[in-house]
Amino acid sequence: MSSFNPAHRDTLSGQITIALYRISQAIEHLLRKRGEGAALSPAQIQALLFLRYARPGVRTIGGLAHRLAVSYPTASGVVDALERKSLAARKPDPTDRRTVTLALTGQGEQQVSSLEDLLEVIEQAVEALPGSDQQALQRALQAIVRQLQSKGVVNVYEMCWGCQFFQRDAHPDDPRGPHHCGFVDAPLPQAETYLECPDFKPGKF
Ligand code: SF4
Repeated sequence: MSSFNPAHRDTLSGQITIALYRISQAIEHLLRKRGEGAALSPAQIQALLFLRYARPGVRTIGGLAHRLAVSYPTASGVVDALERKSLAARKPDPTDRRTVTLALTGQGEQQVSSLEDLLEVIEQAVEALPGSDQQALQRALQAIVRQLQSKGVVNVYEMCWGCQFFQRDAHPDDPRGPHHCGFVDAPLPQAETYLECPDFKPGKF
């Protein structure tokens, strides 16, 4: 059974699979086109977005390799290119000198800001659907993503709100942060709860 074979597209699952494939091609195209204008490869664009939105503890070469689903040397090469363009920098971790962390430079921050609308055309297409279709699509796509995640095909990064380890307002007077992460057993400042985390586990609703 091949989703690429037009003869298979007489089934609903075949039609949906090929539609998802086309959307992935559209995203690739958007990344490439935007990258041409900014002299950035699609991987470099994804690395810049990772450095803005991943939680601080995973902003390392290994964390980037996991996020991009590439090898460590490939991720290191992406960072080398961003350093040459003065968009990112390697820095020793102040709490553990053996660990090298990654950070955006001021120029890198500006560059990421100019990329924020990259998926706007897709969001507009979704917004054009009736609300009931959007809700059905959300449920169905989340179920597909969960299946792909359980098979190790995709790494899902999400923010704390909705994570089963998140304890809201666990210690409101703690200067390190009012919330708590049960996974790393540490306080969470409000700003960090909006960052993407690879350890996110959906809460039980
Ligand atoms: S494990 Fe959950 S609560 Fe902890 S930082 Fe990650 S997303 Fe937030």
